[in-house]
Amino acid sequence: MKSFEFYNPTRLIFGKGQLETLKREVPKYGKNILLVYGGGSIKRAGLYDQVIKYLGEIGANVTELAGVEPNPRLTTVHKGVELCKANNIDLVLAVGGGSVIDCAKAIVVGAKYDGDMWDIIERKAAATDALPLGVVLTMAATGSEMNSGSVITNSDTQEKLGWGSAYSFPAFSILDPEFTYSLPKDQTVYGMVDMMSHVLETYFHPEQNTQVQDGSCESVLRAVIEAAPQLINDLENYELRSTIMYSGTMALNGVLSMGVTGDWATHNIEHAVSAVYDIPHGGGLAILFPNWMQYNLKVDPARFAKLAVNVFNVDPAGKSDEEVGAAGIQALRDFWTSIGAPSRLADYDIDDSQIDLMVEKTLKFGPSFGNFAKLQADDVREIYRMSL
Ligand code: NAP
Ligand code: FE
Repeated sequence: MKSFEFYNPTRLIFGKGQLETLKREVPKYGKNILLVYGGGSIKRAGLYDQVIKYLGEIGANVTELAGVEPNPRLTTVHKGVELCKANNIDLVLAVGGGSVIDCAKAIVVGAKYDGDMWDIIERKAAATDALPLGVVLTMAATGSEMNSGSVITNSDTQEKLGWGSAYSFPAFSILDPEFTYSLPKDQTVYGMVDMMSHVLETYFHPEQNTQVQDGSCESVLRAVIEAAPQLINDLENYELRSTIMYSGTMALNGVLSMGVTGDWATHNIEHAVSAVYDIPHGGGLAILFPNWMQYNLKVDPARFAKLAVNVFNVDPAGKSDEEVGAAGIQALRDFWTSIGAPSRLADYDIDDSQIDLMVEKTLKFGPSFGNFAKLQADDVREIYRMSL
């Protein structure tokens, strides 16, 4: 286990009817609110009206930034930063999924930075301050509701970069599983793939003596695997939506990754695909993760075998670790296919024509990346080829 320091300042408010806590939380920060949301799902579901009602009851002045894109754009961040500066905003309230939250994180940090927020995302400058951020989550997927990470797309440079800072944790996040009832089946599946991928990124680490971390990861994976097939046929089931919502938060709020490095190469490889082709993040991960696993099986076959046995119930009798591990990878592929996730880049009409460009994008911060396995250009190219 490696040394670590854990800090997570987000107040997590979970359960039916919790939206009303807005009336307790928001006034802590002030009256001038920037309400940030996406393409209109919160209006169709009636959530927008409820949020406006509660904000009205506490006398808040509400400015709105609507239309945050899935795979949020830097241009939208810029708009939000301008609105904060022009309206003396005290709190940014993000109502939506990971894209809305990630965009809002860049806005709260950008609002306290004199230059272009892209400098901080590109690691050319450091965040030093932020406006407070509140969240109402509508999609279980990213864990952005309880972490400091954010992923922003710059369409001009065809880059999609993850960044984070000590200033970009939400101050509070309200999670009512009922707000995810309206999430369609395909997005529900992408969300479950994303949260499982976060756990897998954490699970594939180089450290030893990590029984607590590994067992916790396995437990979250088993819970999602049990709930997912039921949920896709019963989208308004409160217990199943709760299990998945809590799993998404636990998968990436830092609890599972105390003392381990995690790998995180597959997220980098997926971001390059999303940057060039604008596909859903969870869809890209469903295609790429099993191929990353297959490519790296030999790095530590025992770890793959452990996952196969403890999560996918593979019988290890009479088999080598490599055989057991390979059976686990196949079980993951079969599971994702069974719930309707894509399995090939061709499912998004992606061919080999932009592979070199995508490989180049993954190497933005150096000639290799990944912690469980160090990948270089040729390795990444091969993983893309396996995924075609
Ligand atoms: P999303 O992009 O926020 O939302 C996907 C779609 O689902 C949007 O069209 C959205 O519509 C819709 N939607 C959301 N909630 C809904 C609801 N309750 N009912 C109906 N429709 C709903 O999806 P996401 O997977 O949560 O976020 C993906 C982004 O997060 C990617 O850019 C990814 O790279 C990033 N990410 C971030 C982290 C992190 O830690 N920060 C980790 C992994 C990935 P509206 O536009 O109308 O809201
Ligand atoms: Fe992710």
